[in-house]
Amino acid sequence: MTKKKIVVLGAGYAGLRTVKGLQKKGLDAEITLINKNSYHYEATQLHEVAAGTEPAKKISFEIKDVIDESKVNFIQDEVTTINHEAQEVSLKEGEKVSYDYLVVALGFESESFGIPGVDEFGWPLVDIKTAEAAKAQLDKNLQNYKVSKDPKDLSIVVCGAGFTSIEYLGEISNRLPKLADKFDFPMDKVKVTCIEAMPKLLPMFSEKLASYGIDVLEKRGVEFIVGTPIKEIKESSVVYEQDGELKEIEASTIIWTTGVRGSSVVGASGFEERRGRVMVEPDLTVKGQPNVFMIGDVSAVMDEASGRPYPTTAQIALVQADYVVEAMANKFSGTEPNLFEFKSAGTVASLGNNDGIGHTMNKDFKGYIASVMKKGIVDKSLLQTGTPSVLLKKGRFDFYH
Ligand code: NAD
Repeated sequence: MTKKKIVVLGAGYAGLRTVKGLQKKGLDAEITLINKNSYHYEATQLHEVAAGTEPAKKISFEIKDVIDESKVNFIQDEVTTINHEAQEVSLKEGEKVSYDYLVVALGFESESFGIPGVDEFGWPLVDIKTAEAAKAQLDKNLQNYKVSKDPKDLSIVVCGAGFTSIEYLGEISNRLPKLADKFDFPMDKVKVTCIEAMPKLLPMFSEKLASYGIDVLEKRGVEFIVGTPIKEIKESSVVYEQDGELKEIEASTIIWTTGVRGSSVVGASGFEERRGRVMVEPDLTVKGQPNVFMIGDVSAVMDEASGRPYPTTAQIALVQADYVVEAMANKFSGTEPNLFEFKSAGTVASLGNNDGIGHTMNKDFKGYIASVMKKGIVDKSLLQTGTPSVLLKKGRFDFYH
C-alpha cells in the first residue's frame, strides 16, 4: 500500500516545528516540507537586522541542518496556490505536489491597508530581505547627510506603535549614537518619530509598564505622535491626520510596521479568509476539509474568553504545531484528537539589548530582567525549531553587562 502523503507548507515557527515533531513521531507517511528559502529565520528578531545590531545569519539557520532528510523530503520553492479539489499544491517552478494531509503554515506579509504609497515608499520588516533592505536604506540616508545636509536624511519615521515598531525603536535608538560616529552626523539633528493611529500606546501592557517603555524610548529621543492615523506615504514624507487636519512629516527613512496579514496564497486558493487568515475549527482544520490544518499567521483561532481571535505570535504558532503533530497521529490511528487549547505564557518586548518590558505569571517585569527574559524566549524557540547545535551557534547568551 502506498504511504499517505503529509505536506507542510512553510518553514517558519509553525511549519518547521510541525516537521520536527512529525519526523520524530515515526508515522507511516511520506513527509514533504515546502519553503521558498533554504533557511528558517526568527521572525521575532527582524528588528535587530533592520537596525543593524545583528547580521541576518545570527537570526537564521539552514533547514537542512535540522530536518532528517531520510524522513523528510525538502522542496525549496514558492507555493502559488492550493487546489483543494485535486488535493494538490502548485509551485512557482511549475511542479505540482499532491497531498493526503496538508499543513498550511505560510506565515505573514506586510499589510498596506490600501494606504497610498505604502508599497512604493514604506520599508516593511517582514522577512530577511526586507529587514536587510530597511537597514541599507537607513545607512544610505544617514551616510548621505554629510553631503546633502538635508534634515530629511536624519529623519526616521516608524509607522504604527505595535510590538515590531517598539522593538525596532528600542534597537535603533540604542544604535544611533554608534551610527553617528560611523557616518559622522550630528546626533542632535537626528529625529525619530513614531506615528500611531490609536490614542493609547502599548495597550497590551499595564499603564505602569507602558509608561516605563514609552519613557525609556522618549529619553533616547523618540517622539510619539498618537491618535493620528497615517493617510499616505510619499517618497520622503508621511501624511497623517490629527484633529481632522492632514499633517506631513518629512523623512528619508520610513519604516512600515503597522501590522501584518497572513499569506496571500490563502486568498488566492479560495479559502474563506480575512486579511489572509482563516477562522479554523477547534481542531485547527479548515471547515469542511478535515485533512487541511491551518496554523501560524494564516490561522485565526477564536479566544472564547475575549470573543476575538488570539493575536498571531511565535508563541501560539509553536503551540499549534505541537497540537497538529498529535492530531495527525490521531488521524493515522483513527482516534479522536483533543481540541486545541492555548493559554498565553505572557508577553515580552525588548527595548534594545538590555532593557525591556514584559508580563508573565501575573507579574510585570521591566528593565534588565525583562531583556533577559526575552533572550530566554529566543533561545527556547531556537531549540523548538532548531537543534542544540543551532542554539549554541545562534543563541543569546550575553546576559551579563
Ligand atoms: P500590530 O498589529 O501589533 O501593531 C501595529 C500598530 O500599528 C497598531 O498599534 C496599530 O494601531 C497601528 N496602525 C495600524 N494602522 C495604522 C495607520 N494607518 N496609522 C498609524 N498607525 C497604524 O503589528 P506588528 O507590530 O507588526 O505585530 C504583528 C504581530 O506579531 C502581533 O500579533 C504582535 O503581537 C506579534 N509580535 C509580537 C512580538 C513580541 O511578542 N515581542 C514582537 C513582534 C510582533
